Amino acid sequence: MSKLSGIDIKFLTGVGPKRAELLNKQLGIYTYEDLLRYYPFRYVDRSRIYRITELQPDMPYVQLKGRFVTFNTQGEGAKRRLTALFSDGTATIDVVWFNRIKHIQESYRTGEEYVIFGKPSLFNGYYNIVHPEVERFSPDNEPHGLRGVYNLTETLRNKSITSRTIQQLVQNLLDKVGYIPETLPASVVEGYRLMPLREALVNIHFPQSLDLLQKAKERLKFEELFLVQLNILRYAKGRNSKIRGFHFSRIGDYFNNFYHNVLPFPLTDAQKRVLREIRADMGSGRQMNRLLQGDVGSGKTIVAMMSALMAADNGYQTCIMAPTEILATQHYESLSRMGAQVGLRVELLTGSTRKSRRDEIHAGLLDGSVHILIGTHAVIEDTVEFARLGLVVIDEQHRFGVAQRAKLWNKNTTAPHVLVMTATPIPRTLAMTVYGDLDVSVIDQLPPGRKPILTILKYENNRASVNKLIYEQLLLGRQVYIVYPLIQENEKLDWKNLEEGYQYVCDTFRDFRVSFVHGKMKPADKDYQMQLFAANETQILVATTVIEVGVNVPNASVMVIENAERFGLSQLHQLRGRVGRGADQSFCILMSKPQITKETRRRLEIMTETTDGFRIAEADMQLRGPGDIEGTMQSGIAFNLKIANLASDGQILNLARNAATAILDRDPDLTAPEHRVLIEQLHLHFDKTVNWSRIS
Ligand code: ADP
Ligand code: MG
Repeated sequence: MSKLSGIDIKFLTGVGPKRAELLNKQLGIYTYEDLLRYYPFRYVDRSRIYRITELQPDMPYVQLKGRFVTFNTQGEGAKRRLTALFSDGTATIDVVWFNRIKHIQESYRTGEEYVIFGKPSLFNGYYNIVHPEVERFSPDNEPHGLRGVYNLTETLRNKSITSRTIQQLVQNLLDKVGYIPETLPASVVEGYRLMPLREALVNIHFPQSLDLLQKAKERLKFEELFLVQLNILRYAKGRNSKIRGFHFSRIGDYFNNFYHNVLPFPLTDAQKRVLREIRADMGSGRQMNRLLQGDVGSGKTIVAMMSALMAADNGYQTCIMAPTEILATQHYESLSRMGAQVGLRVELLTGSTRKSRRDEIHAGLLDGSVHILIGTHAVIEDTVEFARLGLVVIDEQHRFGVAQRAKLWNKNTTAPHVLVMTATPIPRTLAMTVYGDLDVSVIDQLPPGRKPILTILKYENNRASVNKLIYEQLLLGRQVYIVYPLIQENEKLDWKNLEEGYQYVCDTFRDFRVSFVHGKMKPADKDYQMQLFAANETQILVATTVIEVGVNVPNASVMVIENAERFGLSQLHQLRGRVGRGADQSFCILMSKPQITKETRRRLEIMTETTDGFRIAEADMQLRGPGDIEGTMQSGIAFNLKIANLASDGQILNLARNAATAILDRDPDLTAPEHRVLIEQLHLHFDKTVNWSRIS
């Protein structure tokens, strides 16, 4: 009995073709392996039998023991239902079924003793339970211990497949297969004191005690995270050993001249550390694949610039890609100014670059006279060719698809070094999983002298005080952003909000000029409006989230976010990063409607408590789960964690990563006999998914 993943579920006692189809379609269970790995999502204590008089509102699932007194059907057609009066001697409750009425009337009898299991709810002062699990009571199937509750669908319940059914099937399977081969090498199981696989599977489905359940969970979480890490790290290692990179051996005149004569401020320690990491990578002879995380305003641009100088010192060109034209232009303005001072030619390529200019730039790239090219990815991707492209910097990575990264790869025979910069902090656990093959650098320090932004939560009835604050700042010569949500599902309503908001702002702040920017405008109009604001020709910018990424107007000191309750934490954080770029006190005002859920209030409060992007990202992940965190959806990885949770299992993840690293250090190709099982597991779990990690 070797490959449980090779045995069709329909061969299991109690399944058969019809149920097999249901299990396939409803739960994705096709094989023995799938069933064993279909873990309960929670557990209830079935040793406890409640009395009806003990029931409380909001109780979770409970067990009652008693007799059905009467059965009554009511209603017609779809509204038809069966209500039974159930008594345990202390009181009575209603038990209600909406389907399979005939079947139930035939199976359950009045007078016999049953144990029913379900969630009580209170209706008109009287308890009822809808669709409980029902079992005949007999002294030898005395309920005991913890019992798993499985995620099931309505369709399955209608076909009377309950948690009890799944349990029975798992039991049948365990009886039948007896031996289940271990999936982890003995050294790992012993070294990390993990519960052996069979014991863990038995306990996850049929916990013998809370303690054993805990150990079973740990083992299965470890296994899952270990395999993910092993898979990612194996590619990273493979690439490191096989793919050669340009060897940037020198720090030369460009860099030194810049460092001593041009650099307008001392670097922060974090910037220095990151530059050392980048230098080590590019000097190693291997291709750099580095993710640079740094909060908004932490100074990533200068790191990109200085990395480009290292490339230039070694005779290579750099390409910097930005997600929007505005951002590309801003980068160009600052980098070309700095570049000119050390004799570097920097060029900008965007959708609005004229044909003649474009031709000049193309020629300059081919003859090597252009050292740094900055542009939007749309422009750079297709037609551009370089003489000696040595470094690619991608700004604001999460806007960048995997496929786009892949195209870069094709621009050279030798892969250029890649530096990916993102201002969306990603919790470490997630980074290790999503970007596990990239080396990660973090700028965890803001340049000195910044006043932390003051974040204030306000409700509609505080509008007057908010307007007052805005007015004061405008009178001080500052500028103001006002952002409205524009979210697809509710587009019409949002649109109305936005236009009314714009009118309101114009009417309220008559002495000042207002720019208006939204996603449906022509890029040229948008740019024009943004430029008016950047030049302080307009003092207020009313916008949808198009301003989210990267614009830099240091004179702006107020960010008002309307309907803040509708934004995610990371997005609020990005928006807030637009202010606080100068030396003066800046404000972020979150306007919310008063009726919000506790969770939403918590989210907004976190914003008022911290400006640390990593804390915010952690909180976002805790509140919403990793699947929703920006960057993971677009990254193209199937996130198939069944039991591990990246928000709460960071410790296990660390252990698992260490274990995977240790194994790959000793046996990079997993050729040792005791590692054969790992190769099998990797095939089993990862062959179907896209191998995104090769593309970078
Ligand atoms: P981001 O990481 O968001 O891209 P930028 O690179 O745009 O941040 O930097 C934000 C601002 O901080 C810029 O005006 C930049 O010149 C300035 N800056 C960067 N590094 C330092 C530093 N070490 N000291 C002072 N100011 C700095
Ligand atoms: Mg930036």
